[in-house]
Amino acid sequence: MRKQIVAGNWKMNNDLAQTETLISSLKAQVKTSNAEVMIAPTATNLWHAYNSTKNAGIEVIAQNMHFAENGAYTGEISAAMLKSIGINTVILGHSERREYFNETDETLAKKVDAALAKGMRIIFCFGEELADRKSGNEENVVGDQIKKALFHLSAADFQNIVLAYEPVWAIGTGETATAEQAQDMHAFIRKTLADKYGNDIAEDVSILYGGSVKPANAEEIFSKPDVDGGLIGGAALNAEDFFGIVNAF
Ligand code: PEP
Repeated sequence: MRKQIVAGNWKMNNDLAQTETLISSLKAQVKTSNAEVMIAPTATNLWHAYNSTKNAGIEVIAQNMHFAENGAYTGEISAAMLKSIGINTVILGHSERREYFNETDETLAKKVDAALAKGMRIIFCFGEELADRKSGNEENVVGDQIKKALFHLSAADFQNIVLAYEPVWAIGTGETATAEQAQDMHAFIRKTLADKYGNDIAEDVSILYGGSVKPANAEEIFSKPDVDGGLIGGAALNAEDFFGIVNAF
């Protein structure tokens, strides 16, 4: 059975004091939910966030990591370092990492391998740009991103993979894919997985939607059969909005 997940990507927002304030508000709002709830604070606050959310029903996850075990990679963080502070899940392939930090399918494949080798769970992000959608090329782009970074994996590896479809034109723009556009793409993604790994694997992988999800549109998007939750940016910075989305399940 695939899981329903709502993950908040805080990006480069919130210093230590703001992290503590937002976590206190989140803890006040959290209640039993059908969905797994995750937050991804910035790296400097992961340890504090991890300790502040113990037994609170909120998993603290990382926004990124390097593929090397350790060594001369100034400014980077390894999977082992994340694991050593209790972080078991990492977001990889976010469009901002691809765009501003030149992450390619090849580097992402290495990061995926490094995370899986340490037993981490991955939220793997991908999505087309506006020009791809306008030219009707969105399925080719998305299919390629998935194949190039993930299709060297074994079927068993997919137990630790969550996919996040995030059309670049909908991230932080206020522009949301319609629930139908999300469903169509999620169904395509599931079929792409089924063609390679079989139906059982494809049916078990959670596929999240990301791109300007808000309390007002979450219920409709989450009601679609192949949408298993959301990766939330802007709306994750406000506890009421975030739980408005979590409670849409
Ligand atoms: C994101 O960055 O993953 C995201 C979905 O952002 P937003 O919700 O702000 O569009």
